[in-house]
Amino acid sequence: MRDPRHDVLFEPIKIGPVETKNRFYQVPHCTGMGWRRPQTLAAMRGVKAEGGWGVVNTEFCSIHPTSDNDYYPYAALWDQDDIRANRLMTDAVHEHDALAGVELWIGGGMVANLGTRLPAYGLRNRPQTDSSVLNPFQARKVDKQDIRDIRRWHRDAALRAGEAGFDIVYVYATHGYLISEFLDPTINTRTDEYGGSLENRVRIVRELIEETREAVGHKAAVATRFSVALNDPETFDAFGLLADLPDLWDLTVPDYGVEMGASRFVKEASFVDSIAAAKSLTSKPVVAVGRFTSPDTMARVIKDGSQDLIGAARPSIADPFLPKKIEEGRSEDIRECIGCNVCYAHDSLGVPIRCTQNPTMGEEWKLGWHPDRAGTSPRKDETVLVVGAGPAGLEAARVLGERGHNVMLAEATRDLGGRVSRESRLPGMAELARVRDWRVGQIEKLDNIEIFRESRMTPQDVLELGVDHVVLATGSTWSTDTVGRHSDTGLRHEAPDMVLGAETVLDGDPFDANHVVIYDDDHYYLGSVMALELRRKGHQVTLVTPAGRPCDWGQYTTEVYSSNAALIEAGVKIVTNKTIVAANPGSARLSCMFSEQESDLACDVIVPLTRRLPVSDLYDGLMAIEDRVKAVGIQSVTRIGDAEAPGIVAAAVHSGYRVAMDLGEDVDIAKKYGRREHTV
Ligand code: ADP
Ligand code: SF4
Repeated sequence: MRDPRHDVLFEPIKIGPVETKNRFYQVPHCTGMGWRRPQTLAAMRGVKAEGGWGVVNTEFCSIHPTSDNDYYPYAALWDQDDIRANRLMTDAVHEHDALAGVELWIGGGMVANLGTRLPAYGLRNRPQTDSSVLNPFQARKVDKQDIRDIRRWHRDAALRAGEAGFDIVYVYATHGYLISEFLDPTINTRTDEYGGSLENRVRIVRELIEETREAVGHKAAVATRFSVALNDPETFDAFGLLADLPDLWDLTVPDYGVEMGASRFVKEASFVDSIAAAKSLTSKPVVAVGRFTSPDTMARVIKDGSQDLIGAARPSIADPFLPKKIEEGRSEDIRECIGCNVCYAHDSLGVPIRCTQNPTMGEEWKLGWHPDRAGTSPRKDETVLVVGAGPAGLEAARVLGERGHNVMLAEATRDLGGRVSRESRLPGMAELARVRDWRVGQIEKLDNIEIFRESRMTPQDVLELGVDHVVLATGSTWSTDTVGRHSDTGLRHEAPDMVLGAETVLDGDPFDANHVVIYDDDHYYLGSVMALELRRKGHQVTLVTPAGRPCDWGQYTTEVYSSNAALIEAGVKIVTNKTIVAANPGSARLSCMFSEQESDLACDVIVPLTRRLPVSDLYDGLMAIEDRVKAVGIQSVTRIGDAEAPGIVAAAVHSGYRVAMDLGEDVDIAKKYGRREHTV
């Protein structure tokens, strides 16, 4: 039974000529699929519609080859082939009685058109403004004919969107792309009717809204994605000039680090005040994101009039069935987004998005995986022992249980969660614990999974249990040598007591050292959050990295800037472009990445973060007695997660899901996991 407090989320609402059945609105979000993977994309969007989202949008959708974001995947509506490809998506969405929206996109000075090799159309003569890539290309400064061409291309793309079956068509006026360049007085220095006064600067938005309506307004709503911020009053003046023009406002703030902020720095509903202020200026419905995962918060922001629809990208990725779960009174089953931005990172890397919480994300077409149904195992009568209750083991146990197996989950310690429990205690990392909590909650609902805490398993224990399958999710530990990406051999000299294992820091054990050097050759969040934790505990901390900046992989998750700002603010000393080659008494010997010139850094202890080693004693022990393993009837022994190959938490969860789907099957890996979309 649905909680009546959430009824407001299920009220239909008119958006121009169309109506959405509820207030759940999947805003446009990138997917790493784009025009290259239309079937992958359609299957994924279709699952969202099936999960109850009233509106499901595309990612940014190029109107013309002058807006090309290769190698970042994007959707496109350039021609008849694109219409057919997008039709796959609109059909999949319509099948579940949801509306399909398309975010028409004009790249502007943000892009370099690496694919089409045409000059980008920007507002100024200056290099590509997407600072994450630093390509040595400049945009062509648009003249009046270019603006007329862009308007025509936008209108033609809107017509193609209509043909492809879209119910909502966007004018995309934010995120630094061409239209937001027009709006920004510091960028727009034009002296014609498109520059100068605010009226002139919003002219292009007005024209595009009107022309889109002329093209498709008889059957599709015209939405506008736009940014407002309380600390920038002009954004509200601009909004006020356009307030009642589109059929729907999709509002955000002009700071992507907040809109898309990682949970280390940005929490749920973080900019609802700016949205509410804009909503009071328009009679048209307003949708906005805020990484909403709590149905109470969602109902509150609608009831208090801050917004009309709950926009979601990440919460819809982590749980495509979020609306259905609220509708069916199963809110406690919502798999909450943890704000890690691993989804976004993979789009930036040019591959289909994945999700730490939802291992089926991106695998809907390729593998037929479904976020709310794992199916029944053909071998469900066979019993399984899962060893290790980190993210991999918890996910394996949960899905094996859901598929009907009797499962024993043995964990050496009292705590469940493995690395996510330990890391979630570090500064800003609390939401990581949701990976554990959601799985434990689901496992507790199944009576065919039994958890054994404080049960460190030996090969002999495993033999005695009489199970059919063994899944080893025993994880990994940080090595105390410095073998890793930048060293084949590790330290050439190591003075006694100069190296402290990262595991000690993760355990929270106190140690006696004033100046700690973290040697971060891992390049993701851990070195930085450890540095913050050690500062909190009163140590002097220096982070040494062979990269040009700490948390370099955080460029893909958007956290690199906030992460480094936090280090600077906390007084962590940062040394870049240096490896550590030796640990001498009282100092670390550094080597310059470029010149190999060496220098000494005085310190009391060095914590290396260079590689993790799988915990393999149990696996090795079982392999050593393979004949006895077979003799007691164990059909398979499989390593998963970090015990197989240490990686990010998303990879561990995915491997847990995978083993549960493939258990005991003779899988043709190349055929199954190598499945691709071919255009020929
Ligand atoms: P992953 O990320 O692959 O899930 P983790 O390191 O997070 O790996 O978790 C591994 C878990 O396995 C830890 O909680 C650890 O205590 C547990 N573990 C390791 N070896 C054994 C063992 N022999 N018996 C039971 N549990 C084990
Ligand atoms: Fe949320 Fe992380 Fe999943 Fe993205 S990858 S949806 S941020 S849990």
